[in-house]
Amino acid sequence: MHTFFTSDAGPLMAFPMLGRRLRLIGQLDAPAAPTLEELQAIVDHRTTGFRLESARWITSFETHHAQVPCYRVGRGFLAGDAAHVHSPAGGQGMNTGIQDAFNLGWKLAQAATEGPGSALLDSYHAERHPVAAHVIKVTTATTDAGTVTNPLVRRLRNCGVRVASGLSPVAHMLAEETEETRVAYRASPIVGPSRRSHRSPQPGDAAPEVAAVSLHNMLARATGPTALYIAGRGQVPEPIAARGIQRHVLVADAEAPTSAFDGVISDPDRAVAARYGTGKNGGLFVIRPDGYIASRSDQR
Ligand SMILES: Cc1cc2nc3c(=O)[nH]c(=O)nc-3n(C[C@H](O)[C@H](O)[C@H](O)COP(=O)(O)OP(=O)(O)OC[C@H]3O[C@@H](n4cnc5c(N)ncnc54)[C@H](O)[C@@H]3O)c2cc1C
Repeated sequence: MHTFFTSDAGPLMAFPMLGRRLRLIGQLDAPAAPTLEELQAIVDHRTTGFRLESARWITSFETHHAQVPCYRVGRGFLAGDAAHVHSPAGGQGMNTGIQDAFNLGWKLAQAATEGPGSALLDSYHAERHPVAAHVIKVTTATTDAGTVTNPLVRRLRNCGVRVASGLSPVAHMLAEETEETRVAYRASPIVGPSRRSHRSPQPGDAAPEVAAVSLHNMLARATGPTALYIAGRGQVPEPIAARGIQRHVLVADAEAPTSAFDGVISDPDRAVAARYGTGKNGGLFVIRPDGYIASRSDQR
């Protein structure tokens, strides 16, 4: 967002686009979309003033918030705006819907090949319903704060936003919140137990990328669970024989026999072990096709 203009008639936001184009979003009392002239009058009233030459598209929308109580009814599944709608403040609606589909897709595929395990399919609601409930709570609060009419509260809000948005931890936290990169499913019924106080990745967390070895490249495009072995210092583990595991991927700092594994990642600096907090003895992570950790076991 380029600028958030506040006024007694409601806010106006300006988003820079390619070239000299801007996207303007403003609060209006009238339900109909304004003409270019009416939009110019709004710009003149609410901003320090700039001239609108032409408009590619002018439209109006209303904000609502709602969520279905259940994402699965028998063979029916709801995802995206069919399951949840909210204010576009923060621009999260499409992202939340795509994450719904990403969470559900591999579960449907697994149910289609291995039979409809109810726990697996029910976990779609258990994992995704709280995510949209949180998005609705935050976007509703953001919209209420953005459209407040009391002049004193508006002034306090503007001061608070000005100070907070200049603090890099706050900016970082807001970016992560709206990008939804911190979404985790630790309470899910289909992931292993997590150690809550532990700062290293736990079951239900997204498997972190380790750019030095392009870990995500190796984990991508799996249609079933991947067993990720992070070898202990100077060790090479044996692949486990577990039902349902599609691929066995080893991360090792030592020379490893490649034939026993579907993929081997050389990690001489032990960057993966450090990021995953496996210590000198190593550990085993089962990674779901959507990139989330299903279980973790550390070697002692
Ligand atoms: C002003 C505004 C700005 C936004 N900005 C952002 C943003 O920056 N980032 C972001 O992530 N999200 C944003 N969103 C939200 C985002 O647009 C929606 O969350 C997203 O488009 C929803 O996608 P969907 O596929 O779930 O639903 P929809 O896009 O509504 O798609 C559903 C489709 O199903 C069709 N359909 C309906 N009924 C039937 C039927 N019976 N048979 C066949 N077809 C049917 C509809 O015609 C429609 O094409 C914004 C929304 C608004 C209003």
